[in-house]
Amino acid sequence: MFKRFFLFLLFIFILSSTVQPVSAQASGPVYIVQSGDTLSGIAVRFNVSINDLIAANPSLNPNFLSEGQQIVIPGLEGLTGVLETEVISFGDTLRSLSRRTQVSDELLQKLNHLVSPTELYVGISLIIPTQEQREPLKTRMTAASGESLLELAVKQSSDPWTLASINKLSGTWAALPGDILYSPTGSSEENATGLPSAFLSASIEPLPLVQGSTEVIRARVQEGASPAGILIDMPLHFFQGNGEQVALQGVHALLEPGVYPLLLEATLTDGSKQSFEQMILVTSGNYSSEDIPLNDPSFIDPAITEPELKNVISLTAPATPTRYWTDVFASPATDPDCFTSWYGTRRTYKVINSDVETPGFHTGLDFCGGEGLQIFAPAPGRVVFAAPLTVRGNATIIDHGWGIYSGFWHQSQLYVNVGDTVEQGQVIGLVGGTGRVTGAHLHWEVWANGIQVNPLDWLNQAYP
Ligand SMILES: [Zn+2]
Repeated sequence: MFKRFFLFLLFIFILSSTVQPVSAQASGPVYIVQSGDTLSGIAVRFNVSINDLIAANPSLNPNFLSEGQQIVIPGLEGLTGVLETEVISFGDTLRSLSRRTQVSDELLQKLNHLVSPTELYVGISLIIPTQEQREPLKTRMTAASGESLLELAVKQSSDPWTLASINKLSGTWAALPGDILYSPTGSSEENATGLPSAFLSASIEPLPLVQGSTEVIRARVQEGASPAGILIDMPLHFFQGNGEQVALQGVHALLEPGVYPLLLEATLTDGSKQSFEQMILVTSGNYSSEDIPLNDPSFIDPAITEPELKNVISLTAPATPTRYWTDVFASPATDPDCFTSWYGTRRTYKVINSDVETPGFHTGLDFCGGEGLQIFAPAPGRVVFAAPLTVRGNATIIDHGWGIYSGFWHQSQLYVNVGDTVEQGQVIGLVGGTGRVTGAHLHWEVWANGIQVNPLDWLNQAYP
């Protein structure tokens, strides 16, 4: 009898000791495993050791994480709910995220190990705790100069004290003109962002930016407002797209990887401006390097190369409002997929038997095949240049509109004239070896708002 009672006690003990970790599992904040996650990656993410993670999740098999599995994150006292991951898009700031998610910016900073606000660049992914009882706020408004919180509150059918509280203002007097505030009332179908309210939305893709990429910047603005902007140091040209304004901008192949600013600005119908600037990550294009031996030093003589480059830059600078192309570009070569040199390759031009050398990069795409082959217009456009140049030889430049240009160098024959309209696939000339080349070949380059970009992108996808 006593023995049976002892066994019963032992059973209760075992039961309670196995139940305990399960109840502990339900108490802390949980992270939901995403595809591609590893335990060590999650540990780094939340700044905890793998051992602590395993201790907090006794039933966890460290070698087998399944997507959607919940993992308790230890060391975050006082926090409950689900820790979600969100990729920062253009328009998000720590302040707007805090206001939108109703999580304090101190907690967001602590969870994400952010030391300074500049670390919050577009494209990084942040951990956001979500609480069931807290509804994200969606309606955005911007106080105009001289407008009080009371006036704003009336517009939103709210009251200034509620607005001050949810926007974490120190008082109802503390809203600044241009500040982006959130309201619990009103309805907005737009995603809440930290953008000034003149912007219904704004985005940039692809992200992160890559050396040589063509970036598409989209903005939807309030009725009558007009957008402008600067990416890194290039002023953007916006054109009317499908219900949105679109700008295309190249990223220079030699731009040092790092974070750079994107500034967007909207001019309202009353002439006032609202602007927003955010840091964006630029990554390496992982281009290879090569040495180009030269017999003739005049090939790299700046007295010849610089004025010619300046001429090409000025020819490709205007952003024509007409977009002539609609589809993906077609290869301009007879052998469309055969290349002898790719865009972006770092080149060091070395004069033989001398220590003269010049750095540069390959600004276009070289195709296989030589003398006399046909060259086709890759997309519709208007010819803005067709004449011989010293370095580039017989050259044609086609304006495709919206700041996009194609250049064809070293031709043996030019078949088009300045002012001609060309169709996609039209023969515009023949391949040759004119200008400073070692052999006859077609060099094709694409310019996007003043910068040479990777032409392969234009053969692989339709812009914008
Ligand atoms: Zn080339």
